Amino acid sequence: MVREISAGGIVTRMQDGEWWVAVIELPKASQQAADSSALAAKQAKPVLALPKGLVDPGEKPIETAPREVYEETGLTADVITKLGDIKYVYTRTWAGGERVFKIVSFYLMRYRTGHIDDITPEMRIEVGRAFWIKLEEALHVLAYKGEKQMARKAMQYLNEHPET
Ligand code: ATP
Repeated sequence: MVREISAGGIVTRMQDGEWWVAVIELPKASQQAADSSALAAKQAKPVLALPKGLVDPGEKPIETAPREVYEETGLTADVITKLGDIKYVYTRTWAGGERVFKIVSFYLMRYRTGHIDDITPEMRIEVGRAFWIKLEEALHVLAYKGEKQMARKAMQYLNEHPET
């Protein structure tokens, strides 16, 4: 099976006594492609995900995560710790419909600078919009189980390390 390795970030920020996290809403076209049923496509529920992307040749995942975060959200952020890997299999809707085994490493990150959603026009193919939501809310509204688990781990880490 084809393999893909990606990396991404949970970018956190404390504001008004609460933790916030940067998420992206996929563009409408890719949301429909991701939906398996016609009914789901019609209902067009926004697909919320964490910023991530493929690890480039010669790049380390810990370098990919902040690069992808910047490209997809417009934010610069520093890595605090690795949270874990998520794994899934999907079928390509292009290139002969191959099955892909994918591993995505997620890093907990601290917001440094930038305005959310300040991204290049080219990036709009991948990102409908980027915005902050409460970390607590992310546990429920992120589209994928693996990413919800990462948000839960982030919350645990932040509770156990109040100095962050
Ligand atoms: P990348 O952001 O790593 O460059 P991509 O945008 O090309 O990747 P994915 O986000 O992996 O591709 O999406 C490919 C397929 O996998 C889509 O159908 C998507 O719905 C599905 N998918 C994405 N993330 C997950 C996940 N965490 N769990 C299960 N399926 C997922």
